[in-house]
Amino acid sequence: MAKPGDLVEVITKNKTYKGILMPKPEILKSNTIVIKLNSGYNIGIDKKNIKKIKVIKKAKKKKARRKKIKQNKKLPTVSILSTGGTISSKVDYTTGGTYASLTAEDFVELEPKILKFANIRAKQVLQIMSEDVNPDDWVKLAKEVYKELNKKDVSGVVITHGTDTLHYTAAMLSFMFPKLSKPIVLVGAQRSTDRGSSDTFMNLICSVIAATQRIGEVMVCMHATPNDDFCYLHRGTKVRKMHTSRRDAFRSINQFPIAKVFPDGRIEILIDYKKLDGKNELDTKIDKKVALVYIYPGMNPKIIDYYIKQRYHGIILMGTGLGHIPTTGKDSLILKIRSAIKKGIAVCITSQCLYGRTHEFVYSNLRKLENTGAIFCEDMLPEVAYVKLMHVLGKTKKLDKVKELMKKNMTGEINPSLSPKVFLV
Ligand code: ASP
Repeated sequence: MAKPGDLVEVITKNKTYKGILMPKPEILKSNTIVIKLNSGYNIGIDKKNIKKIKVIKKAKKKKARRKKIKQNKKLPTVSILSTGGTISSKVDYTTGGTYASLTAEDFVELEPKILKFANIRAKQVLQIMSEDVNPDDWVKLAKEVYKELNKKDVSGVVITHGTDTLHYTAAMLSFMFPKLSKPIVLVGAQRSTDRGSSDTFMNLICSVIAATQRIGEVMVCMHATPNDDFCYLHRGTKVRKMHTSRRDAFRSINQFPIAKVFPDGRIEILIDYKKLDGKNELDTKIDKKVALVYIYPGMNPKIIDYYIKQRYHGIILMGTGLGHIPTTGKDSLILKIRSAIKKGIAVCITSQCLYGRTHEFVYSNLRKLENTGAIFCEDMLPEVAYVKLMHVLGKTKKLDKVKELMKKNMTGEINPSLSPKVFLV
């Protein structure tokens, strides 16, 4: 019987395909098999069209052990914590199988050039796609990062992460680490290593370089352009995935990235950044009863009742434009918001425009909203306001204090003024 990794010939009614039998992704129905063709492309073949599968060559057994990596005493040490996602899964060309990069040896094998910049240490913290990451995972990850940061010989921490929710994790860690004596760099990959256009390799090199710098921030390191020229180092509270598949999908919103990082080790600083602190401070107290709600035409105001009934403590509304919500007629949300706030729920306003700032005083409809006691979140990204509210509600449930903290710039998430130059950079 053919096993994943075997070189096979699949004979169908009309055609014969030759390639490596791939492990079947969970999402595919069981009536399909997947083979990797010589061209590098994977194709799925419906089992009912298959007449025969011939094994041409059995997969080679993988060597269990790899060479130990030599330590270079002149170089700093970077700890890589892996959490899963595309960047962690590696396709072995000889077997066609996929396995995760979890050990230092795996990462070095993936991109040997990282050893030019640092000694590598690695640990697996999670092994999931980032759409499955939840607030408990953020706490678990933060505690693991804290342990690494406190090791004397470690200069910085790299976290490999799926790209879908990488910016949520980056923002949450930014709030959980008010003081940092070493940088924390999150990195992902948009394209897996079996594709010629994979961004894994350069992203990994640049993130390791970034983790050796003297920057006291949580940052995201990803391709800056569609080419393999340099990466951007984005502030953890000002970054967002803006494209489903492009290698340069991550963009700093409402400000410039902190730096450009080149794969040859050069760094070009673009804006002011937080300097290193003498110590690391960790605060993982969060309140998970926070919702993020998108506002749209025709929205049923009763959606808010659900969160009231479920005893939520905070709601972030992603309003339209300057932070609008429907305020007149049968779709008005005003009464619902008023009753949520009366029950002690913090209601915060962000904008689905992402760029720009919310403004409570521009239109009379916005003033109506402000009169309810809703908190306008300046130029904060909705996802950032969401994790910040969890963090703030972990400290206090008093609405005036919540407002004061939500309006306070804690870790670069709020810009007092926005330069026109930062739009779509
Ligand atoms: N859906 C995947 C994830 O976020 C995509 C990726 O890893 O880039 O984990």
